[in-house]
Amino acid sequence: MRFAFDPPTQPSVAVNGSDARFPVRRIFCVGRNYADHVREMGNDPKSEPPIFFTKPADAVVENDAAIAYSQNTSNLHFEVELVVAIGKSGAGVAEEKALEFVWGYGVGVDLTRRDRQSEAKKAGQPWDVAKAFDNSAPVSALTPASAWSRTAARIRLSVNDAMKQESDIAEMIWSVPEIIATLSRSWALQPGDLIFTGTPSGVGPLAVGDRVLAEIDGLPALRFTIN
Ligand code: MN
Repeated sequence: MRFAFDPPTQPSVAVNGSDARFPVRRIFCVGRNYADHVREMGNDPKSEPPIFFTKPADAVVENDAAIAYSQNTSNLHFEVELVVAIGKSGAGVAEEKALEFVWGYGVGVDLTRRDRQSEAKKAGQPWDVAKAFDNSAPVSALTPASAWSRTAARIRLSVNDAMKQESDIAEMIWSVPEIIATLSRSWALQPGDLIFTGTPSGVGPLAVGDRVLAEIDGLPALRFTIN
């Protein structure tokens, strides 16, 4: 096969303890998955099924990056999230089998143009401009599920050493198996897919010069700066 021009580089994420990289196929994200964050956004946690949106695979950003403050926003927000990396293909996955599809876990930040998201919500429009922009998905090195697989772990994010978000992944409304089962009824999951599983309360704005540290107990941290 001959392409009309060189195809783009395969987006990928580092792997904890290995020089092999995880090739990213798609990025799925869950909205409204911690009760306190659902309440801070003015919604009722029990009222709706999980909502999904996506980011392009090449939105991933390596740990320790300097990320340019996004264009088309004056309210760029952080959202710390547990990231699930999929290693096996499957549609209509049963909840009891869902963890077999997990390759590993990481820490991610779902960068969000909150001003554009508010406008989209009001107008009943899609979230792409608010969520799926360039460099909107910084992710830590991934840890294989054989080395870390927990249903409870502290999750936190600080900006310039000030704690902004602090919760536990046990507080997720929809568990990882429930998310995988539900997602796989709309998409056939494939190796290389990443799932951002939603953020706890405390989301807030970033400014040029900010230093972000995102952590989940037992996983390598994610660090980046905004410039
Ligand atoms: Mn999010």
